[in-house]
Amino acid sequence: MIPGDGIGPEVAAATRAVLDATGVSIGWDERPAGAAALETAGALLPEETLDAIRDSRVAIKGPITTPVGEGFRSVNVALRQDLDLFAAVRPARTLPGVRTRHQGVDLVVIRENTEDLYRGIEFARGSPEAAALARELEDLGGFEVPSDAGVTLKPISVSGAHRIVRFAFEYARANHRRKVTVGHKATVMRYSDGVFLGAAQEDAVDYPDVPWEDIHIDHLSAKLVRRPEDFDVLLLPNLYGDILSDLCAGLVGGLGLIPGANIGWEYAVFEAVHGSAPDIAGRGIANPIAMILSGAMLLRHLGELEAAAAVERAVDVVLERGEVRTGDLGGDASTTQMAEAIARALTAADAQ
Ligand code: NAD
Repeated sequence: MIPGDGIGPEVAAATRAVLDATGVSIGWDERPAGAAALETAGALLPEETLDAIRDSRVAIKGPITTPVGEGFRSVNVALRQDLDLFAAVRPARTLPGVRTRHQGVDLVVIRENTEDLYRGIEFARGSPEAAALARELEDLGGFEVPSDAGVTLKPISVSGAHRIVRFAFEYARANHRRKVTVGHKATVMRYSDGVFLGAAQEDAVDYPDVPWEDIHIDHLSAKLVRRPEDFDVLLLPNLYGDILSDLCAGLVGGLGLIPGANIGWEYAVFEAVHGSAPDIAGRGIANPIAMILSGAMLLRHLGELEAAAAVERAVDVVLERGEVRTGDLGGDASTTQMAEAIARALTAADAQ
């Protein structure tokens, strides 16, 4: 367990209480990352924390604040790259008792997690490296990069695209989903998004039972906000996946509700989609549901299918009753009260 920064420790404690209430025996190993780790261990992502995840192979983490500016590599990006957690899975479904514009939303964003503009290949404006890159690009193809431009590169590899495409189709098949929609802009970014789309076209042939379509990312955004019920699994490169998973969170009632998993061949790290919410940190009012539902995904990953379903049901029961709600849902309950209500709903269901 990595509690993280901001509201992280608050929602992490709530999650731990609910997961313990399932009766599944979990040996917790708490490790720091983020601002807390910088203070105590001198690094944002201490090697011991990485080793602990490698050791247990699964982790659940709270959000981590990424200091804006020079010299800091995002801990989240580093974790995903160092552990090769190439697939992010983010389900967003209509939850009972949460008022939203659309009903019947049941989406899963599957986002490539290691490549694209988030690969971290960047050249600072005015740096000798940026100048060298500009000269090289001029030589290579007459490309003109203004001398006052900062540059971020967008690599998308054939191997990286194939593994996420296959992951998404396998996921759709295993979870009996209706279809896979691939979002891209291959008409403009022919050699990066083009690789992504090409991989989908090639691999889809092996999944004749999984309907699929491709659509430009801008058009997809417009359609999603109008008719989200038309979509099911959204397979997206890294940057689009990041943006659209927040959009999907918005569709079903906000960031406080959406869980997520980062999955690789060897390791898996579960975390809410939301960030460290500095605006409400330390006040005990954050909604813990996103991290609690991430905990349910962790339980399912471990094969604890009944406990996972029980946590999801307990969340539904509490939301449907509507008696205990945090501020983002229009109530005034605390993080702890929400967790206690969910834990009670779990044990009440057990007793039936
Ligand atoms: P944020 O998700 O932290 O907050 C956006 C808004 O949503 C805020 O108004 C916040 O109060 C609200 N919110 C978020 N989670 C909530 C919850 N559980 N309950 C109630 N309200 C909630 O996004 P941000 O402000 O853009 O980012 C803050 C920091 O978090 C940044 O440093 C960013 O880099 C980091 N971040 C980390 C992760 C992660 O660790 N996975 C993800 C996103 C952002």
